[in-house]
Amino acid sequence: MTIEQIINKVKKNNPKADLDLLMLAYDFAQNAHEGQKRQSGEPYIQHSLHTAFTLAQIKTDLNTIIAGLLHDVPEDTKRTLAEVEKNFGKEVASLVRGITKLSKIKYRGVERYVESLRKMFLAMASDLRVILIKFADRLHNLRTLDALPPEKQERIARETLEIYAPIAGLLGIWRLKWQMEDLCFKYLYPEEFKKIEYKYEVEKKVERNRFIQGVKNILNKKLNEEDVEHIITGRFKHLYSIYKKMQAKDRKFDEIYDVFALRVIVKSIPDCYKTLGIIHSLWRPKPDRFKDYIALPKPNGYRSLHTTVYGPNGKATEFQIRTEEMNEEALYGIAAHWYYKDGGNYEKDKLKQPRWIKEIMDLQLNIKDSHDFIKQVKFDVFHDRIFVFSPEGDVYDLAESATPVDFAYAVHTDIGNQCSGALINDKMATLDAKLRSGEVVEIIIDKNRKYPNRDWLKFVKTQKARNKIKQFSKLSRLETIKKLLPKI
Ligand code: MN
Repeated sequence: MTIEQIINKVKKNNPKADLDLLMLAYDFAQNAHEGQKRQSGEPYIQHSLHTAFTLAQIKTDLNTIIAGLLHDVPEDTKRTLAEVEKNFGKEVASLVRGITKLSKIKYRGVERYVESLRKMFLAMASDLRVILIKFADRLHNLRTLDALPPEKQERIARETLEIYAPIAGLLGIWRLKWQMEDLCFKYLYPEEFKKIEYKYEVEKKVERNRFIQGVKNILNKKLNEEDVEHIITGRFKHLYSIYKKMQAKDRKFDEIYDVFALRVIVKSIPDCYKTLGIIHSLWRPKPDRFKDYIALPKPNGYRSLHTTVYGPNGKATEFQIRTEEMNEEALYGIAAHWYYKDGGNYEKDKLKQPRWIKEIMDLQLNIKDSHDFIKQVKFDVFHDRIFVFSPEGDVYDLAESATPVDFAYAVHTDIGNQCSGALINDKMATLDAKLRSGEVVEIIIDKNRKYPNRDWLKFVKTQKARNKIKQFSKLSRLETIKKLLPKI
């Protein structure tokens, strides 16, 4: 890896970037790490370059790329953070400081897991870019894991799989998530990895390519006839995701391999729907497999149309249909959002923090027990989320299988406390009904009611609702006791 490769990437994505400053950062890092070697025997600067290159690839802003080049300088060389600040400014220095703080933490068992999670979330809450640098740093460490002793390999791979990869997913940076997962998979489950790799990459490859080419030819022709400008690509399945699917559904290899996947990229949103119509007219869609994430994006902002059809020879064929912009966002997630819109300048306020970051911050303040904390984070955050609407059209994202009571507390504590009924899509529903994405939920309140019903604890799903119900039903009991007292 050379600095020129990074410069070329940056030039392409951000023509206005100050390339002299980037070059200066390279010289500074090169100088500081002079003579240092990685465990693999490579010069240390290679690690800095790879980290910066990944950041350029996911289209972060220039200061983040510079901080990527410098990320190990204060920790591992004689040059100090003060010198970094003097040469590259406050913002770069603060990013490098964030990384240095994070690196103090090593994953060992559950306690450490909680500690690293907390540190990650704290860092994210202060500046999301710190996490992006950490991901890029980790990705290169994973790629050079062979040079480390086996216990270290296992520790790093496990920490990545349990903490880094899910967070990358939450931020919508799929590209990094998949790369990290497949690398970890190889180290943690070498036998399974080899088996799946062989089957997917060797045995099934020819058949798969032939099938995908066939589908492409048919669809190309039809889209051209209808004047839809497009690009069709076959989608590569990630080995770890195949493995996980096999575990979760207890299905055989072939059932999962034989799903063929393609992506169609078009110019505009109307073209997305037009393409969908064309695909459905060519092949019969599988019921329940159509998802419109354009009209109803996922909570992390993901947009696309998904459908599975019975393709040629009745074979299940998955399509993702999206515009170029959606494709960029799907690959680079949160990083792509600020990039294009601000011409490469990161402005903290413009990048709205996803709601779940705040939720985790609240969780860690409220839950003292580590095991409970992990359980709740896994449930509230790493679990699939749903999004529902208020009658005014505000969107709320909640943990999957949340109920109207969870929704009520998400809107406002008073609404939760006074909640007495719910309408889901204008129909009366019970308070323990399971909400689904896209539903409109209206809470009926009872103005005379002051306190929640303790029985709600039996079905609420979010920590926020649970805490509030406990807190207020305690008050209610106190009040009842007070009322009884004079009579006694
Ligand atoms: Mn590093």
